[in-house]
Amino acid sequence: MFDNLTDRLTGIFSRLQGKGRLTEKDIDDALGQVRRSLLEADVNFRVAREFVATVKERALSGEVLESLSPGQQVVKIVHEELTDVLSAGDHRLTPASQLPSVLMLVGLQGSGKTTTAAKLALHMKRQQHSAMLIAADLRRPAAIAQLQTLGNQLDIPVYSEDPGSSTPAQVATAGVRRAAELALTWAIVDTGGRLHIDDELMAELEEVKRAVSPHQTILVVDSMTGQDAVNAAEEFHRRVGLDGLVLSKMDGDARGGAALSITRVTGVPIKFVGTGERNDALEQFHPDRMASRILAMGDVLTLIERAQEAVDEEKARELERKMRTASFTLDDFLDQIQGVQKMGGLASVMEMMPGLGRQSKKMQGQLDESELKKTEAIIRSMTMEERDKPDIIKGSRRRRIALGSGTNPADVNRVLNQFKQTQRLMRQFSNNPKGLMRMLR
Ligand code: GDP
Repeated sequence: MFDNLTDRLTGIFSRLQGKGRLTEKDIDDALGQVRRSLLEADVNFRVAREFVATVKERALSGEVLESLSPGQQVVKIVHEELTDVLSAGDHRLTPASQLPSVLMLVGLQGSGKTTTAAKLALHMKRQQHSAMLIAADLRRPAAIAQLQTLGNQLDIPVYSEDPGSSTPAQVATAGVRRAAELALTWAIVDTGGRLHIDDELMAELEEVKRAVSPHQTILVVDSMTGQDAVNAAEEFHRRVGLDGLVLSKMDGDARGGAALSITRVTGVPIKFVGTGERNDALEQFHPDRMASRILAMGDVLTLIERAQEAVDEEKARELERKMRTASFTLDDFLDQIQGVQKMGGLASVMEMMPGLGRQSKKMQGQLDESELKKTEAIIRSMTMEERDKPDIIKGSRRRRIALGSGTNPADVNRVLNQFKQTQRLMRQFSNNPKGLMRMLR
């Protein structure tokens, strides 16, 4: 996400920071470039114009120009103003006091509504909140079956009825009643969509909304559609009334214009962003963290949260014990690799690391997922004894492992070296935990 914009902005600001003292003209030129970059990223032109005007006003104050690091001050202002552009009301999703809290999901067909319903249910489950999915999308023939499949996969109950004999409002009402009987925290109502906004769809959604009085009405928009997503959000907000937005397919949107415009234009907060097709590819939205990511300053907090979700607590505690006693084995190494894969792969992890954001694209080729898969195959081709005592892996064992994993002996050596490095790191950590924290900072 935001690949091109991040490249452009970091380029502009590194030139600015390279200058030492700044003149008004330097700032003017740089902000002219920022404005063009925003427009190229498909940001709404009014939003881009106002953004640049605000930054300029603040940047031209004597305080910035006379400071010792004016370039850094400008970046700080840009970060604050980006955060402001992305902020509106409450970005969190909190349940109401009554059971269940009703969340009604609306959106155009293909926006990712049904997928998002399942992602949200999983997110709630991970927060120890119970949820039910209600299949009130009676327009798309496969929508009910799709929701049932997703519910089965995630072990989340799905309420559905025969589409021939009930209306969406009836299904939604009965589903919410069922969720109340089961005393569930959330009832997520998946509603119908169309390819374009039309009166019939809006009337149907209004009827469902009247029937179940949702605590949260959330629109899913496809971020890849750029300004069309913003227009759709305006129209849905006007007709149905929205409490929040989910921007789907941010993984495929290299420009980011919709994300940067939608809240300023509609006044509705983004609550989540979808970052892939998997059920766990949903991130809570935090304006300040997103601004940091756009400026390639990293997003360590989201990274830590993802790690907490990907690695189960039991394993984390075990790993911690092994670090303390320095008994980290190749099997643990394998666990770690799988953890990274669960966290969305190396590229997406690197995107969130401070200072690595811009490199993640370049590194993708060298450190891509296939490399991780290779490492996994190599470790899996080792016997238990070899995993326990990797020092015994020499000539013929090395050849056998290479053959078994479809790699060559040099690859096996590389994995063993990586493992030794990691093990050394663990030893250092066990001797000096503060040292590792310093390294991470
Ligand atoms: P609906 O018609 O709005 O219910 O749309 P679906 O939930 O069926 O999603 C349409 C397509 O978009 C499916 O192929 C999904 O896998 C895909 N999709 C949904 N969300 C995301 C996302 O965040 N990233 C990516 N890459 N694909 C997504």
